[in-house]
Amino acid sequence: MSQKIKTVQTALMTWYRDNCRQLPWRRDTSFYRVWVSEVMLQQTVVKTVIPYYLKFMETWPDLSDLAAADLETVLKAWEGLGYYARARNLHKAAGIVVRDFHGIIPDNYKDFKNLPGVGDYIASAVLSIAGAQPHAVVDGNVKRVLARLFCEDTPVNHSGAHKAYKSIAETLLYEKDPGTYNQAVMELGALVCTPKTPDCASCPLVRECCAFEKQATALFPRRMERKKVPTVHIAAGIVKKNGKVLITRRKLDGLLGGLWEFPGGKVEPHESAEQACIREIREETGIQAGNLQFLTTVFHAYTHFKIEMDVFFCDYISGRVILNGPIDHKWVRVDQLSQFPFPRANLKFMGLINK
Ligand code: SF4
Repeated sequence: MSQKIKTVQTALMTWYRDNCRQLPWRRDTSFYRVWVSEVMLQQTVVKTVIPYYLKFMETWPDLSDLAAADLETVLKAWEGLGYYARARNLHKAAGIVVRDFHGIIPDNYKDFKNLPGVGDYIASAVLSIAGAQPHAVVDGNVKRVLARLFCEDTPVNHSGAHKAYKSIAETLLYEKDPGTYNQAVMELGALVCTPKTPDCASCPLVRECCAFEKQATALFPRRMERKKVPTVHIAAGIVKKNGKVLITRRKLDGLLGGLWEFPGGKVEPHESAEQACIREIREETGIQAGNLQFLTTVFHAYTHFKIEMDVFFCDYISGRVILNGPIDHKWVRVDQLSQFPFPRANLKFMGLINK
């Protein structure tokens, strides 16, 4: 083994032992708990995840509890965390484990990775942390640390990046304790080798770091220029009828699948937001709405696009609900809205509905 690898491993393991954060999912590293935490931590920061994780474990302490829960309750518990496909997949995967694996999470890479929502990152993280198996993890933090440590030129957002960085990560993996080692690299990326201002002075790898030596930490990791994210103009209507409002449920697959929302959709180039609101309500639900009253405009960013949503109160005028797109609808009182899982963009104006 090259001396550099050995030095990096020893320095990281020692640093982690002295500096790791005490996080709830590090107290009990059973497969189920590590799995849930890793799913939540994908695309969401630690501080946000902690209360969600604790509540999730209180509600569904075992995988069998999660498998028996209904999807809507799980989505409600996920509300605000975003990337709802993670919750749908986790719930579906729990059902498969109960049905096909007698409730025991498979501890081999192939079977585990075959479960919905489990990619190489989740499989490697869970199997190494909960099962002490020698799989190297590669996430954004790991890529950044490795890119700087070795002056690696592969852009981190390139389609071949995962493979390139996985290969480096595997070479560096400390096989005697892969779970702790993986967490150490990720922790270093989160606490010391941060994106904008790495704290090289307190980094345990400073003497081995190529980017530091070349005074080029700002140049790594390399990144391909991103395409500009488009903004989509949306109109949504809170349709009122007899003291209740209309909500519809999105189909289960796709963006925000299974969540509830107020009917609406994209504003076409030739129409105003008000016209789009009435048209979308008619197309999605079959009813005619009118007497629009502007409530607010909210902005929200998804991974590949942003939305600017104009929200209106409107009155039910006529018609019977015939759904075209949504899979369910309900007329509910405003005080019942909190019982349903909504996308974050809707939550941004929910507090204004009572006023
Ligand atoms: Fe990152 Fe600086 Fe440590 Fe290199 S020395 S790994 S750039 S924190």
